[in-house]
Amino acid sequence: MKKLKLIYNPYSGDKTFKFDLDIYVTNLQEAGYEVHMFRTIKKGDIENHLKEVPKDFYDAFIIAGGDGTINIVVNSLMKYGLNHIPIAIIPVGTANDFARFLKLPKEPDDACKIIANNNTIPVDVGLCNETYFINVCAGGLFANISEKIDKNFKEVLGKLGYYIRALQEMPFYKPITLKITNSKETIEDKFDLFLVLNTSGTGSIKNLSPKASISDGVFDFIGFRNVGITNLPSFAIKVLKGEYLEHDKILFFQDEKITIESVEDIYSDLDGEKGPKLPITIKNISNAIKVFTN
Ligand SMILES: [Mg+2]
Repeated sequence: MKKLKLIYNPYSGDKTFKFDLDIYVTNLQEAGYEVHMFRTIKKGDIENHLKEVPKDFYDAFIIAGGDGTINIVVNSLMKYGLNHIPIAIIPVGTANDFARFLKLPKEPDDACKIIANNNTIPVDVGLCNETYFINVCAGGLFANISEKIDKNFKEVLGKLGYYIRALQEMPFYKPITLKITNSKETIEDKFDLFLVLNTSGTGSIKNLSPKASISDGVFDFIGFRNVGITNLPSFAIKVLKGEYLEHDKILFFQDEKITIESVEDIYSDLDGEKGPKLPITIKNISNAIKVFTN
């Protein structure tokens, strides 16, 4: 019998995943898997657990949680040499950008069918200095919003919380001077925000880079040059409509390695969590993991 490890976060999203556990175990056993479970109880326990998992014991991992839980698991898989084992994702978190990009279902029967069908695709992972990310590495205006929203607020308001917090941040906001180096050139300018996208969008801003591919080995870099607080609303509307790639206030390129420096104290944000302080070097680890999809 094939062996599968189900890692779940009982606090993710609306906290209802635990009521479906029996359905999952039934469906997965019928698909030929012996199911082992790991319930996260406290910070750091997923990492500690995966560190001890033998490299060739499991045939699959299932992650039931949001982008935060997936980020933790992917970091552990990469660090502990488990990234050859395919992962299935059940998007039960507050933020599920990664699963949404891959169009993964939330319903137990549909999610189990994908695993039973055993179809996987290779997926790129980003490495920012020493830490991996799955969706986006960001910095500037909107970047540190999700970590500043307290947990209850985030659960109640969901995505709306991001907007409200963004507006609250505005009065204190200053553009940042960045030096950005890709494989062709170095660009120095004042920016409101930069995004290094592995998937196509982040937070409330979906499909920011509609052509982004998760297995092409390159990131989509989008830098928002400073437009000033008075021009920001009209600029934001254009961006949300997707009318931005030709805009002279947008720096857009694709590359596999990007270095971002600043003379200011700027922290990056990786998948909505605080990341390393600039300078950062971001590398695309092409086809680093395998994900179950339709
Ligand atoms: Mg890509």
